[in-house]
Amino acid sequence: MPVITHDITLVANSLLNDEVAAIPTETVYGLAGNIFSEKAIRRIYEVKQRPLFNPLIVHIAAVKDMWKVASFIPPLAQALAEKFWPGPLTLLLPKKDTVPSIITAGKDTVAVRVPQHPIALSLLEKLPFPLAAPSANPFGSISPTTAEHVASYFKQEFPFILNGGPCKKGIESTIIGFNEHGAIIYRYGSLAIEEIEKITGPLQEYIRNEENPDAPGMLLRHYAPVTKTVLSSDIKKSIAENIGKKIGLLLFDDRYTSDEATVVESLSIDGSMEEAASNLYAAMHRLDQYSLDIIIAERFPDQGLGKSINDRLQRATHP
Ligand code: AMP
Ligand code: MG
Repeated sequence: MPVITHDITLVANSLLNDEVAAIPTETVYGLAGNIFSEKAIRRIYEVKQRPLFNPLIVHIAAVKDMWKVASFIPPLAQALAEKFWPGPLTLLLPKKDTVPSIITAGKDTVAVRVPQHPIALSLLEKLPFPLAAPSANPFGSISPTTAEHVASYFKQEFPFILNGGPCKKGIESTIIGFNEHGAIIYRYGSLAIEEIEKITGPLQEYIRNEENPDAPGMLLRHYAPVTKTVLSSDIKKSIAENIGKKIGLLLFDDRYTSDEATVVESLSIDGSMEEAASNLYAAMHRLDQYSLDIIIAERFPDQGLGKSINDRLQRATHP
């Protein structure tokens, strides 16, 4: 297992030596490497078993560092960065030639954000380069929101996991791109689109076509437990359909208990979407430990973070 440590300098030195390291952010743990080190970046793809066509998010220390990776910054992007960074918002910007194309999977845009985690920020401030950091999980599986989740996924593939405690937001960043008409939503995430739309106006939906193949964050099946999972708008009915099976329930709040279920995970006691989002992946990790026949997940109200949670549940339940 990689060593779990609180020592930022130790991890910074390892990254300076072209190693990769798991780091905390407010969304999920990332598997980080120097964007200018081909060795480190190749290692990230290899360790995650991530296909090379899936680009990585670049993490920078401050808004002004956007110019280290972007050749042009649309005024809307500048406004969003100033409003929401540090925070769980990733912007797709035209890339500078100096950004290796392996980071962007050959695309001419680079994904960039300033994470809102004191340990990630102090690490970035110690380093002379930005960090590429996709989620620190094997490709397709549930993203890690604690150092222990990361450790459970990997044996010896890299030296250190920097421990920053449980992630406060708990689901990935919201990804926004731009075209001549304005802003486009690429991935629902920890920042509710209603907040973004206050600045951008109504967001355009991302259109998939041959020039825009699905990036894996947008694959139908992703963020998935090993256990078969279904999404339900009627929990009682779904339980009735699965009587006799070993059932796990993944519920929004604690309104509902059931003698038919082996285990019940309530994501928020008082029905807070923020709390539910921050607990979602840890609850999915726990449910996966029970050798259940089925996980029945409750569909969330389709607004605010509920949209992002439903997006993840949908991808977790796709056969
Ligand atoms: P992860 O870091 O594991 O949350 O995954 C990063 C996600 O960022 C990928 O799934 C892509 O969907 C997205 N991404 C990164 N760079 C780009 C880009 N240049 N264009 C479109 N999507 C991107
Ligand atoms: Mg990921």
